[in-house]
Amino acid sequence: MRVIKKSGVTAVERDTVVRWVKRCLREITLKHYELPVDYPTAKTDLTLTVKLAGHRSSACAKGITIDLSPLKRGSGEILEYPKFAKDPVIGSRASVSVEMALAATVAHEVSHFIQYRYGPETRWLRQRFRKPHGEGFQDIYRILRARVINPHLT
Ligand SMILES: [Zn+2]
Repeated sequence: MRVIKKSGVTAVERDTVVRWVKRCLREITLKHYELPVDYPTAKTDLTLTVKLAGHRSSACAKGITIDLSPLKRGSGEILEYPKFAKDPVIGSRASVSVEMALAATVAHEVSHFIQYRYGPETRWLRQRFRKPHGEGFQDIYRILRARVINPHLT
């Protein structure tokens, strides 16, 4: 993983983001999810940028960018897209810890990275990975929320 730390981001904050990215990649590259990639390779494929610029977090086929503004504000809220905000697994959640709000953002962006990078070569994503927050994305994010994030939410 190539990690780029922008100004205003501490080493501890960077390491926290790296830890959640690794947890997400370790889960989604388990053999039974049938992605065309193993954990070491996925880790190599992803460039992580951690910044503090007040913009949104984002992702593409090359990696993810996490903006720490909500963390610095002390936000303890997972705020999801209206389309699935009410879903019990992948939806919005109030009153979570600041770290878990950040972790959910990481899982969301890692899901985008997975959909764009490996969607074309993955049997169960090939027909449904293209829409940014469509079915393919939601299927990936559902795995990460259920297995990596939600067990830590109260
Ligand atoms: Zn998104």
